[in-house]
Amino acid sequence: MDPIKRVCKKCGEEKLLEAFNSHKRFCANDYICFDCLNKIMSARIRKYQKKNRKNITKRTILQHLRHRDELSNWYIKSLLRYAGFDRDNITPELIELKRVQLQIHRLTKTN
Ligand SMILES: [Zn+2]
Repeated sequence: MDPIKRVCKKCGEEKLLEAFNSHKRFCANDYICFDCLNKIMSARIRKYQKKNRKNITKRTILQHLRHRDELSNWYIKSLLRYAGFDRDNITPELIELKRVQLQIHRLTKTN
């Protein structure tokens, strides 16, 4: 049987399936190889570091980006607190509303 191969959306090279990101966190529909993914991630980290001129570790940045990508409760709560909401006033309904708002915002940005 032939090994399964996919063409990387980014560099256009045909590679074995193992060379691709198996959890599709960063690239919803497309196959992007690890080499390209690393480049994308380091570019994102550099951008993030520019914005946040604090001394933060790569690990922290990756965690933040993951929270942002997944619209985690933690991330949404921190946005709400930043917007002036009290910890006590942040209800699950509010979090859900904010999540929907962010999703709509992202949709309008990408389409
Ligand atoms: Zn690639």
